[in-house]
Amino acid sequence: MSIISLGQLDRSSKDRLNERFQKKVLQERFEGKIRPDSCKCWLWNGAVRHDGYGKISISGNADGPWMLAHRVAYELFIGSIPLNKSVLRMCNETRCVNPHHLILGNNNTNRIRSLQMRFMQNFKKTTGCWEWLGSKKSNGYGVIGRGGRGGGSVYVHRLSYEIFIGPIPDGLYVCHTCDNRPCVRPSHLFIGTQKDNMVDAWNKGRLNLPTETGEDHYAAKLTREQVVNILEERKHKRTKRKILARRYGISINTLDCILYGRTWKTIDRQGIFSGATSS
Ligand SMILES: [Zn+2]
Ligand SMILES: [Zn+2]
Repeated sequence: MSIISLGQLDRSSKDRLNERFQKKVLQERFEGKIRPDSCKCWLWNGAVRHDGYGKISISGNADGPWMLAHRVAYELFIGSIPLNKSVLRMCNETRCVNPHHLILGNNNTNRIRSLQMRFMQNFKKTTGCWEWLGSKKSNGYGVIGRGGRGGGSVYVHRLSYEIFIGPIPDGLYVCHTCDNRPCVRPSHLFIGTQKDNMVDAWNKGRLNLPTETGEDHYAAKLTREQVVNILEERKHKRTKRKILARRYGISINTLDCILYGRTWKTIDRQGIFSGATSS
């Protein structure tokens, strides 16, 4: 649905609009959808856009063209809306069309405010985590659309950090102390580097695909020399896995990754799997 303003219609469609649907008619239809009260919010009772904003068909037909109800309110009761200006509601009530609650702002202010409002309505506070109820990416993190066409989306834990705590320095990550990715509770969030974030993920057993190899890997516990020694000791099953793992302070799983070449891939493994049964 495209949103237009009366002032933005071209000359001929503006004329047609004037002929067929007088402003007065629009006003009457508009007023039929609200319960005016001088200082309280006028809650829109008509059709509503997917994001909760009231809308009204300026032709009276179900197929539009549509205008946002609060913008119509502004134009009917205050005046025309300059191009590139948005109408903001000071009361933060999405359905409110009370002209006394409307002010002009720029598109950006409006987008950020609408993003914040949508965010605030989409999580459940518990005594522990604040659970995000909106959409999630396949990696488990919550996301929210920036608003506007082709605006993309933002991670909600980052948004939460920015709303409640402050700006995230360039290139830094927002990590969870609670290890619950859909959590947006600001006290569960902290700023870290990518390394912090990955080490954190590694420690919590969540990391799938290490990108570095060998000693350079941030989680490497062994040196290349130790790995060569392990492989040497394991040739022809000379030393039991359990003993090797204990000696080098690694888990059996880590040892198997080395033995089967899932880690330290660049070291030669000839002779490792020949010989007797595994022990
Ligand atoms: Zn209001
Ligand atoms: Zn949490």
